[in-house]
Amino acid sequence: MSDSPKPVNFIRQIIDDDIKAGRHQAIVTRFPPEPNGYLHIGHCKAIWLNFGIKDDYGGRCTLRFDDTNPLRESQKYASRIEEDIRWLGYEWSSLAHASDYFDQFYEYAVHLIKNALAYVDSQSGDEIRRQRGTLTEPGMNSPYRDRGIEENLSLFQAMRDGEFEDGEHVLRAKIDMQASNINLRDPVLYRIRHHAHQRTGDKWCIYPMYDFAHGQGDAIEGVTHSLCTLEFEDHRALYDWLIEHLPVPSTPRQIEFSRLNLNYTVMSKRLLTQLVDLGHVAGWDDPRMPTISGLRRRGYTPESLRNFIASVGITRKPNVIEMGLLEKCIRDDLDPKAPRVMAVLRPLKVVIENYPESETELIEVPSHPQRPEIGCRQLTFSREIFIERSDYEDDPPKGYFRLAPGREVRLRHAYVIRCKEVVRDARGEPVEIRCDYDPETAGGQTPDGRKVKGIIHWVSASHAVNAEVRLYDRLFSVADPLGARKHDYLDALNPDSLQCLKDCKLEMGLGQADPQTRYQFERVGYFFQDSASRQDALVFNRIVSLRDTWTRKSQYSSN
Ligand code: ATP
Ligand code: MG
Repeated sequence: MSDSPKPVNFIRQIIDDDIKAGRHQAIVTRFPPEPNGYLHIGHCKAIWLNFGIKDDYGGRCTLRFDDTNPLRESQKYASRIEEDIRWLGYEWSSLAHASDYFDQFYEYAVHLIKNALAYVDSQSGDEIRRQRGTLTEPGMNSPYRDRGIEENLSLFQAMRDGEFEDGEHVLRAKIDMQASNINLRDPVLYRIRHHAHQRTGDKWCIYPMYDFAHGQGDAIEGVTHSLCTLEFEDHRALYDWLIEHLPVPSTPRQIEFSRLNLNYTVMSKRLLTQLVDLGHVAGWDDPRMPTISGLRRRGYTPESLRNFIASVGITRKPNVIEMGLLEKCIRDDLDPKAPRVMAVLRPLKVVIENYPESETELIEVPSHPQRPEIGCRQLTFSREIFIERSDYEDDPPKGYFRLAPGREVRLRHAYVIRCKEVVRDARGEPVEIRCDYDPETAGGQTPDGRKVKGIIHWVSASHAVNAEVRLYDRLFSVADPLGARKHDYLDALNPDSLQCLKDCKLEMGLGQADPQTRYQFERVGYFFQDSASRQDALVFNRIVSLRDTWTRKSQYSSN
C-alpha cells in the first residue's frame, strides 16, 4: 500500500527494536474480527495497523475469525468482512477461524486439568459472579476448586459428550482468587452451549471463551505481535499465564492501543445491530452507518479511510476524533480528482426570452479547473434552463449576489442573464423566472467591464437528465450520543440525516455516468451513484458537502 510516508508509532518502534535484537525471523500479526456484524470505521484502525505492518515489514497477517460464540455469528457476516478488507486495499496471508483449532484448544484444556491448573465448577453463573469479589475485595474459592484431577477429566469429557445442560458446569482456570487482577480469579475457560456452530455444526457443545481461544490461536499461528485495543490490557496477565502454562508452539506478545472513537456516531456492533433491527437505518450498509459498507456505498474511497486512520495515528491515549476530520479526508481525496458537473437539486425554471426558441449551443468546458488531463465535457445551452430555487430571491438580503428582480447574474460557463419578470403560482411562489441574456457575455465575460458578482450553476431544461438525489448527513445530531445517558441514545438521532430529492436535474453527460466515478456537483458537494442506481433511474448519494457546516453547530450541541 503506497500511502507514503511510512507511519511511525510506538508499536512499530517495538517491532523495530525486536528486529534489531534479532528476536523474530518474520513479523506476524493477525486481525481477529468476530463475525457478528459488519466492520465499522473503528475496525479500519485495527486493519490499517495489522495489515500495514505486514505490508511494510514483508511479514504475514492472518485474517482470523473469532467464531467462539455460535449464538451471534454467521457466515453472511464473515463474507462481508472479507469483502470490506479487500475493498480497503488489503490482503491476508492466510485465512483462519478460531474454530479450526477447537480440537487443539480442547487438548490444551485437558493439559491444564492434568496439571491441576483447571477444574470443573458446578455452580451457577450467578454464584460464580458473586464469588468473584470486586476491585477492593478478594474473591472466594469455589467449593469445587479442589476436585481431583480424575474427576475433573471425566466431568470435562462428559461436558463435551453432551451429558449436561447449558450452564450446569464450566471449566475454570485454577489461578488465584486473591489476585488483584480480577481476570486472574479463576476465569472461565469453557462453557456449555447446545447450539450448532456455523462451521463445526453439531460437533461441539462446549465452546472456549475468547480469552482462552485468542492467545492460543495467536501462538498456533506464530503471531509475534498480537495487537488489540486497550480494554484487553487487564486481560494481558491471563493471556501471558496461559501461554506460559501451555505447551504452545510460540510466544506471542500482546500490545494494546486505544480504540478509534468518532463523534456524532456510535460504533459498538451491539448498537449498530439495534439501529438496523429497529429500522432506524435501511441496513448495515445504509450510507449513514459508520460501517465500511455504509461508507463505501456513500462514496468514501479506500484511500480517504486509510488517510484518515493515518492522520489519527496509533497511541495508547483514549480520545474521540472529530467527524469533521473524516469528512476533511474525503474532501482532500476527491478535490483533485473528482470531475466537476452541474446539477440542480431544487429546480426553478428560467426562460431566456431573447434567446431563439429553435437554437441550442454546445459549450465545451474543462471537467476539472486545475487538471486538464481529466478532460472536457460539453454543456448544452438553450432558451429554457433550470437554476437552483435558492439562487433567486424576491427580496435579496444584503450581500446576496444571485438572481433577484432587475438583477444580473452569471451562468457558470455561459452568459450573463437579467431577471425581468417572475411568474407565480396561486400561493405567490415563483415558478418561472423570465430573463434576457446578453450575447456579448459568452463564457461569463463582461467585455464592457461591468461588475456581475454572482455566479450560479444551471442545466438546460430539455437536455437535463432526471435523478433522485439523497442528501445524507450525520446520523446523530449531538456530538456524544451516548453522553450523559439522560436519554436513550436513539433520542439523539438526527431527524434530517436523510433528505430524498426526487426531481433533480443533472447536466446531460450524467445520463451515461460511470457508476464508479465520484463527482463534484459544483457549489453543492461530492456525489456518488447509489448501488441501487440504474441508467433509467439515477440515484446519487451525497458523500459530503463542500464545506464543513457542523463546526459552528457542534459548539452549541456538544454542551
Ligand atoms: P465492537 O465493540 O464494536 O463490537 P469488537 O471489538 O467486539 O467491536 P471485534 O470483531 O471483536 O469487534 O474486533 C476485531 C478487532 O478490531 C479487535 O482486535 C478489536 O480490538 C478491533 N477493534 C474493534 N473496534 C475497534 C475500534 N473502535 N478501534 C480500533 N480497533 C477496534
Ligand atoms: Mg469483540
